Order: sequence, then structure tokens, then C-alpha cells
Amino acid sequence: MANSLEKTDQPLAQKLGHALNRVQVAMRADSWENCGQNDLNPTQGQILIVLGGRTTGLRLSEIASELAVSAPTVSESVATLVEKGYVKKGKAIDDGRAVTVTLSAAGKRIVERLDVVGGAITTVLESLPVAEQIQLYRTMLRMVRQLQAAGRIPVSRMCVTCRYFRPNVHNDAKRPHHCALVDAAFGDQTLRSDCPEHEAADEHLAAKNWETFTSESAIG
Ligand code: SF4
Repeated sequence: MANSLEKTDQPLAQKLGHALNRVQVAMRADSWENCGQNDLNPTQGQILIVLGGRTTGLRLSEIASELAVSAPTVSESVATLVEKGYVKKGKAIDDGRAVTVTLSAAGKRIVERLDVVGGAITTVLESLPVAEQIQLYRTMLRMVRQLQAAGRIPVSRMCVTCRYFRPNVHNDAKRPHHCALVDAAFGDQTLRSDCPEHEAADEHLAAKNWETFTSESAIG
């Protein structure tokens, strides 16, 4: 029979959501601090980081979609970044009327100084045992994938949604997966969350890969 503490307890999912919210507060504070040190606001910093991970320029609409912010917000931020000399506007290769944004040399230098996650969170994560980090990473990937499928966040370039991903094909607990692009085996620890070479798998392959990746034998 439940005691008084258990009877008044919140659902576990609600408490996890609250804990994630606390983490987000710390990440936001870190982001303001890190970007502020470089005379940027977090949106401007995120735009530079997104551009830093691309080999070609991005349209304003693509940046807005990637960051899940409005087009006017991106337009205003990019205008400021142009003034600061961190990005350049140019014509899209495939459409002369469309504008793309790329990093300038100064922008590339500043991206190297920007801390994507934040020092405090990185320190906390690094303090966890490696096995716990890997399990947490798998859980986060699962959450990200579900949020992407529900259309709540933009699709990111993760191994688990890539057409080159071959999950659990090797009989090697440390390196069970395979990347068909570079023809190399790798483990959960090396799963990419934002790979420049990522190419989206079709719906059927993505679903099949996810089932194999999350199968019980894979988690052990
Ligand atoms: S190309 Fe990149 S995202 Fe795709 S499987 Fe290889 S490492 Fe992962």
C-alpha cells in the first residue's frame, strides 16, 4: 500500500520534464555567457554554429528551420552578423534569385571559440561514468528522434536517421555499428548527432534501422 509520500508523488515523466527544464536553464545561462563574451546573443551564436557545420551556404529559410525560430528573427540576426563581418550573403548556386549565407574568415575564427553546449553542462556530463553517458546519449537520441517525428524540432543529421548507418551488424560489443560511407565500424559513443556527411534514409530504412538499433540485444 502506498504511503503518504508516494500518494502525493508526481508522475515520473513530470519530474523528468522538470529536471530537463532545470538543465535547460543552466544551458541557456551558459549560452548567454559564452556568446556574450564574443559580443553575440545566443541566436547569433547558434546561426554561426549552424553555418560552421556546413560546407555550403544556407538560405535564411533553412537557418530558420534548423533553429526552429521565425524568419524575421533570422533575417534580423543575419543582418547584424553581416555588419559585424562574421557572415557573407551570396547567390545560391542552383537559384540566382535566392540568397545564401556563409561564414566569413572572421566568422570561422569565432565559431572555434563558441562553446556549443556550455562549460558547466559539459563538466557535469563528463563527471558521469562513461557507461552512464552512453546510456544517457541513447536515451537522448531516442527523445530527439521522437520529437523530430512529431514535427516538434527540425530533423538533425544523426547517424540513426542516415542512409549509411548499419546498426548492430558487427559481433563486437565495442563497435557493433557500421558507417557504409567511410566503411568503418563504430560504437554508441561514436554515434554522430550532427554529421556533415549525413544523408537522410528513406522512411522504410530509417524505421528498420531504428528497430535494429533499439533492439534488446543492442542495448546490452
Ligand atoms: S555518414 Fe555520418 S551520419 Fe551517416 S552513418 Fe556515417 S558517420 Fe553516421
